[in-house]
Amino acid sequence: MTEERNDHDVIVVGAGFAGLYQLIRLRQAGYEVRVLEAGGDVGGTWYWNRYPGARCDVESIEYSYSFDRTLEQEWNWTERYASQPEILDYIRHVADRYDLRRDITFGTRVEAMRWDDAAERWTVRTDDGRSRTARFVIAATGCLSVPSRPAFAGMADFAGELYWTSNWPHDGVDLTGKRVAVVGTGSSGLQTITAIAPDVGSLTVFQRTPSYAVPAHNGPIAARLDEVKPGYPEFREESRLSRLGFHCGEDETGYYAETPAAGVRRELDRRWSDGGLCFTLSFRDVLFDADANEALAEYVRERIRAKVNDPGTAEKLTPRTYPIAAKRMCVDTGYFEVFNRDNVSLVDLGEEPIERFTERGIVAGDAERAFDVIILATGFDAMTGALTAMDIRGTGGALTEKWAAGPRTYLGLMTAGFPNLFMITGPQSPSVLSNMMTSIEYHVDWVTTALEHLRASGRHRMEPDIEAEDNWVNTTNDVGELTLMPRAASWYTGANIPGKQRVFMPFVGGVGTYKQIGDGVAVAGYHGFELT
Ligand code: NAP
Repeated sequence: MTEERNDHDVIVVGAGFAGLYQLIRLRQAGYEVRVLEAGGDVGGTWYWNRYPGARCDVESIEYSYSFDRTLEQEWNWTERYASQPEILDYIRHVADRYDLRRDITFGTRVEAMRWDDAAERWTVRTDDGRSRTARFVIAATGCLSVPSRPAFAGMADFAGELYWTSNWPHDGVDLTGKRVAVVGTGSSGLQTITAIAPDVGSLTVFQRTPSYAVPAHNGPIAARLDEVKPGYPEFREESRLSRLGFHCGEDETGYYAETPAAGVRRELDRRWSDGGLCFTLSFRDVLFDADANEALAEYVRERIRAKVNDPGTAEKLTPRTYPIAAKRMCVDTGYFEVFNRDNVSLVDLGEEPIERFTERGIVAGDAERAFDVIILATGFDAMTGALTAMDIRGTGGALTEKWAAGPRTYLGLMTAGFPNLFMITGPQSPSVLSNMMTSIEYHVDWVTTALEHLRASGRHRMEPDIEAEDNWVNTTNDVGELTLMPRAASWYTGANIPGKQRVFMPFVGGVGTYKQIGDGVAVAGYHGFELT
């Protein structure tokens, strides 16, 4: 075996969808690249989140690479929404097909990186004590990759099995007949609960905030694939120019154009029977107008009441405290109906807060409930967590200090004071408000083209102007403030992490608009960036 070299043109952090595509593009452009990955194989979020029922909430024909027409034609998804095992098969297939693993070091977590201004290189230190240098570093570290792990009192006392959905055992877990608790009712919790309810002995769901969920209407998609594949390039281009990075039929009208109520009802029924996240685009003012938003919210509440037999349980499952879509919507496959089962019960943490874990189970309210297994689906330190978890030091100090009051970036791609450090789907880009695959491919292409431009013009250092960055931060904040989204205590704002500054982090102006801005910046000679 040849000794791996220590100095690279580019270091890419992360071997999920973003890191793999970045490796492919940089190889094609003739760069020498090393990818550093904490996991034991490729896959990123799909490597770690193997909990029962894990599935993508963006349709498989959209949530896949578009860069290679042969790949896109030869791969056949089996379901409208792909399951985690199928997505992992796909990403492994990509790694094999392009022989990617030879440039990836697995089982290695980046702990720190330091910019050397004289050498104009980054030194990257990993948890095996090794240091490598590179001219450029690209953080393909994901938006939801650092789990939030609340420390409940007495957690260590619990004598049963305890699992996090975000780091599920690779060999699976046998839950058959067991007394199981699930804490958390976001997307991960909903999917886990729905999948395990029929198999477990008893299931107790600990809910802090109820979620709005739209039915997936999942099923086989062979016929749809036959329809889309002949025109896949045009289909992808439409996605790139759309609001969310996938097709939603954006000919939507305003809510007031559809009143009286019959028109509103017709549109909501249509969107509901189509299923999926496009429900939130029923009217173009849903995110801006409180009445339009409330009409959607009330429609979902009515659906929940119709699905859940016990009115008291239905009421507890009904979201009332925040606008619909201000927290990430869930896409479900029979979640609410699970609560009609005799073996499932709901604990509303508003009425019965978790006091502590014990050897036997969980004390909430006045009651101790005994469990064999506790599953925690408590979310992530989103968008900034993976970046601030590394000790990154630029020309003026630490990234954690610069971002103490919230992330500051130009286009979500770079941050001033950290030359030659790029972020794929960084904060203040559409990222989590879009089909991640569309946004990943756009950023990777943009960064690769920027590096090629630097090389072709004999330059090797790139960094945003502070003024351009300030303007972009203001733009992102202003656009966010125009919407109802900051009104929810969501992970979009950092509200789920105690002590994290509350700032609305994604760019909500839409994928197509963002692409036009990003393309324009590049065409204008990387306007707002210093290239030296
Ligand atoms: P999440 O949406 O942040 O949900 C975490 C849940 O845990 C929430 O119900 C939260 O309650 C609860 N929680 C957190 N801390 C708690 C505490 N100390 N005590 C009690 N409850 C607590 O996280 P997630 O479900 O992992 O989903 C995160 C995102 O990942 C999703 O929004 C989505 O973007 C993505 N995802 C997508 C899919 C998919 O494609 N289908 C699947 C999984 C995840 P509060 O709401 O009160 O904070």
